[in-house]
Amino acid sequence: MAKKTIELKQQPRDRTFLVGVELYGEEQLLSMDDSLAELEMLAHTAGLEIVGQAIQRLNRPNPKTFIGSGKVEEIKSLAEEFDAEVILFDDELSPRHQRELERLFGEKMRVLDRTALILDIFAQHAETHEGSLQVELAQYEYRLPRLTRAWTHLARQAGGAGGRAGVGGVGLRGPGEKQLEVDRREIQRRIDFLKTELEKVRAHRERYRARRKKSRIPVVALVGYTNAGKSTLLNSLAKADVYVANQLFATLDPTTRRVELPGGHAALFTDTVGFIQKLPTQLVAAFRATLEEIADAELLLHVIDVTHPNAQAQAEAVHQTLAEIEADHIPILTVLNKIDRFGNPEMANVALENFPDAVAISALKEQGFDELLATITRKLYENYVEVSVELPYEQGALIALFHEQGQVDRVEHTRLGVEIDGRIPGRLLARYRPFEAGDMIEEEVD
Ligand code: GDP
Ligand code: MG
Repeated sequence: MAKKTIELKQQPRDRTFLVGVELYGEEQLLSMDDSLAELEMLAHTAGLEIVGQAIQRLNRPNPKTFIGSGKVEEIKSLAEEFDAEVILFDDELSPRHQRELERLFGEKMRVLDRTALILDIFAQHAETHEGSLQVELAQYEYRLPRLTRAWTHLARQAGGAGGRAGVGGVGLRGPGEKQLEVDRREIQRRIDFLKTELEKVRAHRERYRARRKKSRIPVVALVGYTNAGKSTLLNSLAKADVYVANQLFATLDPTTRRVELPGGHAALFTDTVGFIQKLPTQLVAAFRATLEEIADAELLLHVIDVTHPNAQAQAEAVHQTLAEIEADHIPILTVLNKIDRFGNPEMANVALENFPDAVAISALKEQGFDELLATITRKLYENYVEVSVELPYEQGALIALFHEQGQVDRVEHTRLGVEIDGRIPGRLLARYRPFEAGDMIEEEVD
């Protein structure tokens, strides 16, 4: 896997000019400067070299050119001065903006946006077959409405290259309109093919998940902003050899490891892809299946790089994404990571005041692990919660599980199913939630 990093470094670094737009009255998680700093880090991860940047504050985007037409001219001459080959926008450009800007910036400069960049980074880091299929699908769905001469070569290239068509290649110019039409059809065919393939992979995944559920080892999913230290934590906990790198999105696919907990217990810890503000919607859609792994977990560890100046905003972005994928009902344990970077140990306590109920650790230096593991064990095995559920008869497994692992106070058999009042370990709560008394009885929850 280290090989990939080297490949990245060997690519010629395209000289890139950043453009940020601040819309008056629009609430953003990160300030303009912080968002551009993050874009720079993303660009660096994708192998681009930043040579300059410009910001424009607007009431609303220009319908044709996104930024004002005067600003286009200004950026163009700045970019020429800096020999820039890529103009990179911090926001997703509509197909129309993209076309118009490409026309105005001319043959020598390529216009990219944050979404294309993130998709490209994901494509470079896909490790499994499913991951590659998901990113390739997301890339084509993003590209199809934006197909201009700048994109056409990708259609032909990607036929065999599977999601590998990167930022580095975007500049090649394709032939004219006729080829464009052919390319559109080709892309549509590829999209259909990818969807069919993904269905097959998903069916397989379903069978695997069902098997894993039977094993009854609780699943703990690591979630968090990209670069927070999730993979490092999984590594340290499991002494597993998961790829760790100071790059955004170094890991793409969930990796699961068994970890021993105090008291002879065990849990499966699963790493997930990093969240980020303005995560492209195509990606959230493409990754829904992978993110479903999160929805299966009994506990989420929300890893936060507490030394990051934007830790709060990053945490908020994670909560938003969890809500978007409907995983916000799962219990969360907040883990403040990288405390070894505080010169003064008192800082960790200050941080804990901002995040009540969190555990402070250093994933790298393996500090705070005793408390972390004890808290996880407590959350999974010792926290009993009171529930009243109405379980339909076809949920035989859940009925049996309640009797086995819970404490039953009242049972009543009705025409529709079994009503049980009692207490269950907190880790099982997510499974019983859909059947809580008073709720509508849903069919086929899993
Ligand atoms: P992920 O994107 O959340 O999986 O983050 P990684 O585990 O890949 O870590 C990102 C970067 O942060 C790497 O350079 C790690 O070495 C570094 N890192 C992770 N945990 C710690 C920590 O506890 N202390 C310090 N100083 N660095 C850490
Ligand atoms: Mg990672």
